[in-house]
Amino acid sequence: MSRTPSHDGAPRDIEALIEMMARLPGLGPRSARRAVLHLVKKRGTLMAPLAETMGRVADTARACFNCGNVSTSDLCPICADEGRANGQICVVEDVADLWAMERGGAFAGRYHVLGGTLSALDDVGPEDLHIPRLVDRITTERVREVILALNATVEGQTTAHYIAETLEGTGVAVTSLAQGVPIGGELDYLDDGTISAALKARKAL
Ligand SMILES: [Zn+2]
Repeated sequence: MSRTPSHDGAPRDIEALIEMMARLPGLGPRSARRAVLHLVKKRGTLMAPLAETMGRVADTARACFNCGNVSTSDLCPICADEGRANGQICVVEDVADLWAMERGGAFAGRYHVLGGTLSALDDVGPEDLHIPRLVDRITTERVREVILALNATVEGQTTAHYIAETLEGTGVAVTSLAQGVPIGGELDYLDDGTISAALKARKAL
């Protein structure tokens, strides 16, 4: 039955695989088709090990109970590393943002992954974003500074203000990433909002 050709000549199983792959971010039907064809050609050296690794990660992947980072054990490698307990926590919206910060390699502290932004419309409240846990961590991890690295969107900034208000009176310094001219950026290409944010965040040379 699996050999029954579908409309474009691929067996039904392979067609099903293409349809699943096409649901991945960044892959449309055309690139999913190309990826699956490549996998089938390299089934011994790539497809079988990929399937095995995917199965293993599907079994073990979970959110770090402390920070919300993706992990394959209860505590992610960053929370398990005592060297990262430097009194700083960087708050990000998503694991992808944490990875971006780590790629930059400039931050030596720990993270707190919200998993979204506050939204009355979608019924997302502080509990859903693990903000009470963040407050607990201030004490348990002797945090001196919380760095808000949220997206420069209305939702991101609303959430940042909420967290700053929540942490008022805890004695912790609340800072946020600077917004402005990107490295290598040309003023002529920036939007008005970015230019005025950069002007506000100017510093002495
Ligand atoms: Zn963690």
